[in-house]
Amino acid sequence: MNVTHLECGACGLSHEARRLLNLCRECGKPLLVRYDLEQAARTLTKESLRTRRADLWRYSEVLPVERDENIISLGEGWTPLLSAPQLAAQVGLKKLFIKDESQNPTQSFKARGMAAAVSMAKELGARKLAVPSAGNAAGALAAYAARAGLEAFIFMPKDTPRANVIECEQTGAHVTLMNGLITDCGAEVARRKDAEGWFDVSTLKEPYRVEGKKTLGYELAEQMDWELPDVVIYPTGGGTGLIGMWKAFEEMEQMGWIGKKRPRMVTVQAAGCAPIVRAFEEGKRFADEFPNAQTTASGLRVPRAIGDFLILDALRASGGTAISVTDEELIAATGEIGASEGLFCAPEGAACLPALKKLIAAGEVKEDESVVLFNTGAGVKYLESYGG
Ligand SMILES: *Cc1c(COP(=O)(O)O)cnc(C)c1O
Ligand SMILES: [Zn+2]
Repeated sequence: MNVTHLECGACGLSHEARRLLNLCRECGKPLLVRYDLEQAARTLTKESLRTRRADLWRYSEVLPVERDENIISLGEGWTPLLSAPQLAAQVGLKKLFIKDESQNPTQSFKARGMAAAVSMAKELGARKLAVPSAGNAAGALAAYAARAGLEAFIFMPKDTPRANVIECEQTGAHVTLMNGLITDCGAEVARRKDAEGWFDVSTLKEPYRVEGKKTLGYELAEQMDWELPDVVIYPTGGGTGLIGMWKAFEEMEQMGWIGKKRPRMVTVQAAGCAPIVRAFEEGKRFADEFPNAQTTASGLRVPRAIGDFLILDALRASGGTAISVTDEELIAATGEIGASEGLFCAPEGAACLPALKKLIAAGEVKEDESVVLFNTGAGVKYLESYGG
């Protein structure tokens, strides 16, 4: 509701909202949804939230769907922000939290983005949706498309975790496994989509997945009683969640919900695929494609991200940073988090822990600062990564 227009994240060009669009027609960069926030804030108040539904649609005034009957929901969002006292003691912090996104439908935070994207695709008249995916985006698209009565066409690398392939098959999607990486799958979708009549719902190649994922930022603020943490550590592939949270913070400030203070945003990537870390270190605004990308954390195996500049701008504006961790470190971290807090994290989520330890060792995170780690998915979907 309350959408005024779509705006290019790079050149600022305004685009009409109520049409199926992918990228900016001038420069080919991602489009972001803009709202009449004054209008939104009339009914969306902190007070009103107390009695609202316990999923991400509680923030409907700042979500793009116009008509409630187009909302395709499996109960996504409003996941717990768990305190992690034992892990906190081990690393020497006082306030450590884990936002547990494994509790979403299809067991990852991709459900947030796909709930919004599929709802909008339905509202705007798409019939066939296509996506390249490293795994969890595929599972989420398949599920939401099934529930919407739309067709899903999914392209994944053939070494994607088995759980992702099977869940897509069992939720009625057309699955194609490819030699290569997510970028090769994306090229295949781009090559065929016009002839096949597919709407491309690739990360940041349509405007609405970010809108679903930005609710992470709204929830974080609400669950922390409108006092954002000092540091957010986020396992970054395409960057939708990080870009979305940064956008949410801005919107909340404009609605008068929070002040100017922002968390320092920290991107974590795997050492075998760290294009954003490399660009951050080199002072670049756009990231070069990372050669020979390899990591068992499949959601992080994204060698090139179309929203690279939006991620890098947010990291720098927030005073944050970008860190890589090895596969050995992130796999070991799964057991540490599991044994101390009872969460079987996805390898991507586990990667936040070694990153945090590096920041503490470097004196970049202090003992009394509050830190939120994002467990973006469920370890049970990655049995191969754990010798299963
Ligand atoms: C997709 C994915 C990521 C990366 O998310 P982006 O928003 O693309 O950066 C991290 N963890 C898991 C489990 C994922 O599925
Ligand atoms: Zn543009």
